[in-house]
Formats: sequence, C-alpha cells, structure tokens
Amino acid sequence: MHPNGCSASIMQERPATISGCLVSFMQLKEETVLVTGTLESGMSDKKKKPEVTKSDEEWEKLLTTQQYTVTRLHATEPPFSHPYNASKKQGTYACICCGEPLFASGDKFDSGTGWPSFHSPVSDEALSEHEDRKLFTSRTEVRCAACDSHLGHVFPDGPDPTGLRYCINGVALNMKEDEE
Ligand SMILES: [Zn+2]
Repeated sequence: MHPNGCSASIMQERPATISGCLVSFMQLKEETVLVTGTLESGMSDKKKKPEVTKSDEEWEKLLTTQQYTVTRLHATEPPFSHPYNASKKQGTYACICCGEPLFASGDKFDSGTGWPSFHSPVSDEALSEHEDRKLFTSRTEVRCAACDSHLGHVFPDGPDPTGLRYCINGVALNMKEDEE
C-alpha cells in the first residue's frame, strides 16, 4: 500500500493572490482618473445636480438660435457684441434659460475683454464649475447650477474682493433692472 495525499497537498499550495493584486491595481487607476478629472480637489463640491432639465428640442424651441448655441452647445458670443458688456444699469442678471438670479450689477466690472464680467456670483450655490480642456490650457467653465446652462468661464485674474473674473456671455443672461 502507498501513502495517499502527498502530491495533492503540494498542488493546493499554489500562490492564490494574483487576482487580488489585479483588483487593487484597477481600483487605484480608477481613483487616479477621478482625481485628474477635476481642476483641483474640492471643486466637485461646487457641482450640483441641475433641477431644471429639458431635452435639446425643448431648449431649442424656448431660446433664440444664438442663446441656444451659447447656453446649450457651449459656443461663445463675439467680444463687444452684447449690450450687457458696457451696461452700467442697476439690477440682477438672471439665467436666460431658467430665470434663476446669477449675478448682481454691483459685482460687475469693466474687464476690457468685451464680455460682461463679474467678480462674484449672487451666491455660491448659483453656479456650478466644470473643467474645460477644449483649448490648450485648462479653463474652468461656469454653468447655471439650476439648469446646467453654459454661461462662460472663471479666471483667477479678477479684482477685489475675490480676485476672480467671471467672464460671461451676455446672451446667457437676462437683466432685470431694479425698480426706482
Ligand atoms: Zn439656468
């Protein structure tokens, strides 16, 4: 009689951690993608789920062609083309798509760029920020937080008190003048 089981127990002692290593590597890669997807950590805090959602067809019916191409297709109006750029009227600039207030005339300044410029939005919740890599450098796109309408970009070269310059398309806004 021969003793049984010797060769079987050797077979069972093969290293069994290869699949475990692969899983942790995959998770690491996923985290890396998420981190590089935002301009800086913490920026995702400023992203909010839009409350006003419509199909492209619905927006196209509600808006003029220029309003639609800027706010829903992320186009940019020509500089110095919109009367809001030079306007010094007192009031509130609301979203052309959903009517949510976005900027106050008191926060507007003349940036010389040809687009309406503000150093602050009416509130931190009014806008959402998104990384825009369409040009060679990375820019921060700003949208209406309520309806996801493209408004323009924010740059870190603005005046006091924030040091920010919200460079906004006039056609994305609807100005309501203060009543006297
Ligand atoms: Zn909106």
